[in-house]
Amino acid sequence: MSSSTPSQPFLPFALPEIGEEEIAEVVDTLRSGWVTTGPKARRFEEDFVKFLGDDSLHAIAVNSATAGLHLALEALGIGPGDEVITTTHTFTATAEVVRYMGADVKLVDIDPATLNIDPVAIEAAITPRTKALMPVHYAGLSVDMEAIHAIAKRHGLKVVEDAAHALPTTFQGQLIGTLNSDATVFSFYANKTITTGEGGMLVTRDPALAARAKVMRLHGINRDAFDRFQAKVPSWYYEIVAPGFKYNLTDIAAALGLHQLKRVRGFQKRREQIAQRYDEAFADLPLMLPPRPQQADDLHAWHLYVLRLSDEASINRDQLIEALFADGIGVSVHYIPLHLHPYWRERYKLQPEQFPHSQRAYERMVSLPLYTKMTDADVERVITSVRRALGRA
Ligand SMILES: *Cc1c(COP(=O)(O)O)cnc(C)c1O
Repeated sequence: MSSSTPSQPFLPFALPEIGEEEIAEVVDTLRSGWVTTGPKARRFEEDFVKFLGDDSLHAIAVNSATAGLHLALEALGIGPGDEVITTTHTFTATAEVVRYMGADVKLVDIDPATLNIDPVAIEAAITPRTKALMPVHYAGLSVDMEAIHAIAKRHGLKVVEDAAHALPTTFQGQLIGTLNSDATVFSFYANKTITTGEGGMLVTRDPALAARAKVMRLHGINRDAFDRFQAKVPSWYYEIVAPGFKYNLTDIAAALGLHQLKRVRGFQKRREQIAQRYDEAFADLPLMLPPRPQQADDLHAWHLYVLRLSDEASINRDQLIEALFADGIGVSVHYIPLHLHPYWRERYKLQPEQFPHSQRAYERMVSLPLYTKMTDADVERVITSVRRALGRA
């Protein structure tokens, strides 16, 4: 039975932290008369490159990470007959964009030590049709990008990082987004480490990829092509060079992003602090705690705090979730692996036995609330509930 008092309100699984500066900037945008893509989206892109600290990068603001991933694959020329390898332990967006391009998804298993895609499984899945790898920095812990880039180089493959969880994450001291991948895509969805409501950022070092993504982001409109032949493009003139998409980020959303971006480091510190407190409080329980970066000084973005129940636990995953909900605490599961969803299962005739590590992790995992708006008391409340559910109150 729950012992939470009726006066304790429901503790949501996730909440954004939107401050007065964000609100004032949105209001300023609304009053300015320019509400769609304009000066603020441009400034958000510039600030993003500054944040990453490498001005050879291009940042392209889009209305979701899904859009950014799609644009990256489109610019890389991924198409029918091609295969793209990614992890089964991800959100469907990572894989669906491959299908948008008419290419095929090769799902592979995770390394149970990191919950990230297993480089050995990638090697085993490569065929002559393989064109690209899409690693996902699960929960905000970097994939071993050295291994990924070595495989890509050996087999001549493109690399598109799904960095929806990975702001700010580092690999061997370098921020995700600054590595030598073809493209890296961040998400600013409502529950991500920073938010614009809906939004994303495509980052690349490749000027041709950036140029193509910019054109395809907005209907396939190209004004630069015309620029080459004319000293001055009339303001009304444009050319359509491809059937593009409608993936631009509005200035209303970018207004939020400008201020959220300034808070990235502070947000990460608070998330890290909460994760640390959870780790301490759960150390004696029959649980597997979230994996840590291989290099102790690397940053984990802590988008998610994922527990796994050990075999010795007295209850199963579903019972733990029920106990937490009974105490008024929102929890979630990241993810129901793609190989279990009807579309992916049927399309590629997938069986759980092909993904033993993802399957086993899924059956035992729970994501606890982890966000900057949690008070220390909220954190202790979650701890008390988890300990009580596991009989260690
Ligand atoms: C949230 C998420 C996405 C999609 O992000 P959107 O901005 O909502 O499109 C893609 N991949 C992963 C792993 C995610 O968690």
